Amino acid sequence: MIRVVGTAGHVDHGKSTLVEALTGTHPDRLREEREREMTIDLGFAWMELPDGLEVGFVDVPGHRDFIDNMLAGVGGFDAAMMVVAADEGVMPQTREHLAILDLLRIPKLVLVLTKCDLVEDPAWIDLVEADVRALLAGTSFAAAGSVRVSAATGIGLDDLKAELAKVLAEAPARVDRGRPRLPIDRAFTMTGFGTVVTGTLLDGKLTEGDDVMVMPGALRGRVRGLQTHRRKVEVAFPGSRVAVNVTGIEVQQVQRGDVLCAPGAYRGTRRIDARVEVLGDAAVGLRHDQSLKLHLGSADVLARVRLLMTDEIKPGGDGWVQLVLESPVAVADGDRFVLRRPAPPATIGGGTVVDGRPQRRHRRRDAAVVRLLERKLGGSPEDRIGQELFSAGPLTVAELARKLEEPAEVLSRRVETLVSEGAVRAIGEGPARIYIHPDWLSGVAESAREVLLVYHRDHPQRSGMPREDFRRKLGLETRGSEAAFGALEADGVIVVGGPRLRLAGFSPTLSREQHEAAEALAQRFAASPFSPPSIREATDAIGLEAWTLLVEQGTYVPVAEDVAFAAPVYARLVEEVAASLEAGESVTVATVRDRYGTSRKYALGFLEHLDRIGISVRVGDERRRGPTALAAR
Ligand code: GDP
Repeated sequence: MIRVVGTAGHVDHGKSTLVEALTGTHPDRLREEREREMTIDLGFAWMELPDGLEVGFVDVPGHRDFIDNMLAGVGGFDAAMMVVAADEGVMPQTREHLAILDLLRIPKLVLVLTKCDLVEDPAWIDLVEADVRALLAGTSFAAAGSVRVSAATGIGLDDLKAELAKVLAEAPARVDRGRPRLPIDRAFTMTGFGTVVTGTLLDGKLTEGDDVMVMPGALRGRVRGLQTHRRKVEVAFPGSRVAVNVTGIEVQQVQRGDVLCAPGAYRGTRRIDARVEVLGDAAVGLRHDQSLKLHLGSADVLARVRLLMTDEIKPGGDGWVQLVLESPVAVADGDRFVLRRPAPPATIGGGTVVDGRPQRRHRRRDAAVVRLLERKLGGSPEDRIGQELFSAGPLTVAELARKLEEPAEVLSRRVETLVSEGAVRAIGEGPARIYIHPDWLSGVAESAREVLLVYHRDHPQRSGMPREDFRRKLGLETRGSEAAFGALEADGVIVVGGPRLRLAGFSPTLSREQHEAAEALAQRFAASPFSPPSIREATDAIGLEAWTLLVEQGTYVPVAEDVAFAAPVYARLVEEVAASLEAGESVTVATVRDRYGTSRKYALGFLEHLDRIGISVRVGDERRRGPTALAAR
């Protein structure tokens, strides 16, 4: 097993020197640093502890201007060495680095008081240690052990190795979830090899020859070679520092913050639901809509912070947020992150990704949203199903399985249990059975009421809103929306009538003028029932809207492009002509025309209509009994 230990601490407190004293290698510094004698980017070195455990060291810069670089390297540490120079004591970046390690939930910490050779009076070191302990007390590292060393003389280094061995034995094992990802902290080219990216490998193995993808750009490549601690390996294991030689991807296409992973295993997101905590000594609280820098994995990106329940989270407080990112990052649920104010730079807080791909922008102050996020943070498999259905909307088992990356049979059993408990609704049977979260549905019901109320107010004479417009207005996906309409209708919220939807209880009404015009039109239809006004004349008389409504209500029945009959007349025509067909009488355009004393236009329009609905079939000039003749009677 390989472990990764990082340094943390104020600039010049002796971090790089300490790593060099431990490993015999000066952490791989860039030339610029050598010139400036200060770590501005990440450095790397490795060693074997006396018990045989291999440890990679990530040396981070301590200067405040390079906290971005520091943060890019911190993810994936099993433990950190909090380095404090005994002659100087606690300094600003001592505090800030400690806060960051705590926010990122680095599992273990060792307090290293170094440069002890520069302090003659041990009581002074006690004071420095007491100072640091006071800081640690407010963090998850209150019980951390401490070691006093000098990198210059070598005093205490064996104790430090022993302490590292101890904490690393206690640190949780790295899990192979079969979903390898490498947050990239450096990308460069090597002559003869091409593109090389480095980082700490998480959640799975990488093997030579693997197809890989670099997110969020979804660039495809292949692993040509792997190195851990400068040694060629065929397989790299989770938790190790890895350099990956990739083919198919140019170095210019990759940058720090990208994630190399198994193809399709991670998606880029611009929206993240998260639980955040604000540092007790943060310079400012967190305000709604504030823009902050989000540090996640090795990435940093500007994010707008939407507070879901309050307008502010004060220092020391916590709450629920939806982060809206300026550019996409690849993320997994449960990832920890840090939020910093860009200018003047300051670490404000951090938190946990609870949903790395929420499907929508949450309404604020929606208790249902937060309830689900809370359950998801708690996180049973059932909660995850609920959360997914709530954020994605109606889904089949197959779709749920794909989203949650779990076998369909297992999910099917779980979701059916939820259905039987009333926690999830189901519509339909078999593979097409669709599951709906009741809170999602009540959110949709609320929007539906709002949208339809406005529509009915603006169009009182229309029988309802066209389905398509409604769907678009509510932002529903086509497939799930049919199930949702069905459920809303079953709940008595809406009535689905053909291509239109209306609120239950709504019935369209004509204005006074429309009503009077409609009365007059009805008299004209009654005056010549078999040669009534054409549809054009009718719409000219009462307007298209009123006409459409009367047709929808069944007052008039259109039979041809320009021919409609009043409903009772239509019914009589259908019945009588069907009876004639049934009796085997000769039915032609001419006989119908003469029988009802109308014109060819009406007779022809009507008979063609009967052909279309299957009551008659045309044979030469004659009509015969059609396939649905009997059903019509
Ligand atoms: P970093 O910025 O924390 O990485 O600090 P460096 O490792 O670059 O050390 C800063 C300065 O302190 C350098 O000049 C080192 O030689 C010196 N230094 C580091 N550790 C010790 C130590 O244990 N004793 C003494 N006397 N000097 C040290």
